[in-house]
Amino acid sequence: KVRVRFAPSPTGPLHIGGVRTALFNYLFAKHNGGDFLVRIEDTDQSRFVEGAEEYIRQSLEWAGIVADEAPWNPGDCGPYRQSERKEIYKEYAEQLVKDGLAYYAFDTSEELEEMRERLKAARVNTPQYNSMTRTQMTNSLTLSEEEVKERIESGAPYVIRLKVPKKEEIRLNDMVRGWVMVHSHTIDDKILMKSDGMPTYHLANVVDDHLMGITHVIRGEEWLPSAPLHVLLYKYLGWEDTMPRFAHLPLLLKPDGNGKLSKRDGDKMGFAVFPLEWKDPQSGDISRGFKEDGFLADAFINFLSFLGWNPGDEREFFTLQELCDEFTMERVTKAGTKFDIDKAKWYNQQYLKNRPDAELAQYLIADMTAEGKETTPEKAALVANQLKERVTFPQEIWRDGRFYFEKPQEYDKKTVKKKWKPEGVAVLQEYASTIENAESFTADDAKDIFMKVLENHEMKIGQVMPALRVAISGKGGGPDLMIMQEILGNKEVAERINIAIE
Ligand code: GLU
Repeated sequence: KVRVRFAPSPTGPLHIGGVRTALFNYLFAKHNGGDFLVRIEDTDQSRFVEGAEEYIRQSLEWAGIVADEAPWNPGDCGPYRQSERKEIYKEYAEQLVKDGLAYYAFDTSEELEEMRERLKAARVNTPQYNSMTRTQMTNSLTLSEEEVKERIESGAPYVIRLKVPKKEEIRLNDMVRGWVMVHSHTIDDKILMKSDGMPTYHLANVVDDHLMGITHVIRGEEWLPSAPLHVLLYKYLGWEDTMPRFAHLPLLLKPDGNGKLSKRDGDKMGFAVFPLEWKDPQSGDISRGFKEDGFLADAFINFLSFLGWNPGDEREFFTLQELCDEFTMERVTKAGTKFDIDKAKWYNQQYLKNRPDAELAQYLIADMTAEGKETTPEKAALVANQLKERVTFPQEIWRDGRFYFEKPQEYDKKTVKKKWKPEGVAVLQEYASTIENAESFTADDAKDIFMKVLENHEMKIGQVMPALRVAISGKGGGPDLMIMQEILGNKEVAERINIAIE
């Protein structure tokens, strides 16, 4: 059975790239009838941020990405937080030492620094603790067995390092990138267990993927350099036969394609790079979120699915379920993918205009309530219906539709200058007094009455319509003017016209 995991570190708010990784994992799992797990990789306590895990949970929930197993929905492979699995890793690290595939190292930070300086002086570009240098350092390969025992028993701090072979070609067949080959001399003797007794990312990640029955590791391209090391670990731990397959997803690039997308790009260009608003627990700074900016979750997911994937044809609209049906790794692209906020907005607009009026009315009512204004669900729905084709975000319904609830405070200057003529005013005057006592005032009634008054004055509709609109709404353009009048009612329309004429 296919089992995949999303393994975020709770070091801050989930970046949009993280949500994309979660989504692709989820789609791959569901396409193959498998399980999607969430595992919290919190072994680096110095980078732990309060609230980050809760943020991850809420972000996935908003996006509709449901985990079959997670810290908040445990299955049989728990615990799902690495900090609660400390004892497990230790056992494997010690087994590797016993098997001669890892070793204890006692070097102080001064000694390590000295080694680096020495190598730099010898013009070594990337000084490493590896098969060459380890022979000169303080570790269980250079110390006597007795001394090692003594040091450990006396409580001296130590780490456990992987003994990376000197000459070995490590290969892996990545589902996105194809064959990747790395020579072992480029890998240093990575630390597996830190002096605080916590495992490093590499050890914990491999051990957990194995114990949790993970069949495919799907993650961002930035983890590709770690993959050969992981392959080596699987081999050393004797798990080669059940080693997961790897798929490294393309980078998310800045809108101009120059480098990785960062929070700063969003700040500079005015868009969010996080799914939800995030308040930094230390500084109190608020980072904006897609949700609060007015993105609808399904539009957001549809947009996200195209960041590194496509269906191979012209189709652009997919529900989450349709994505599950369609998603395959063959259609994931290798090249980095540009983050285009305009495309995200376009999706939102397309989704928004197809929403039921009653749903959009809720946004409008909420925005009005926040300003202490009231309306009925019926009127809110009518207004939402008039504006939904014209806005990108729900909050724009209130922004652009205020005049449905309040008389215009000002009149569009351009329209007034060009379209406000004495002969038009005469028409408006007669129209206002005619409708004032109309029995029925539907959009059709409004149109009939208006046409009749125009006829009386021998004028065409186009000559007076802009003036009527600006008198009623204050604006030079907008949705159907007759329906707008029906929503406002004859008394209100007449009143507004009379105010504008004065
Ligand atoms: N904890 C890693 C991260 O924060 C997980 C990488 C992986 O999926 O292996 O992205």
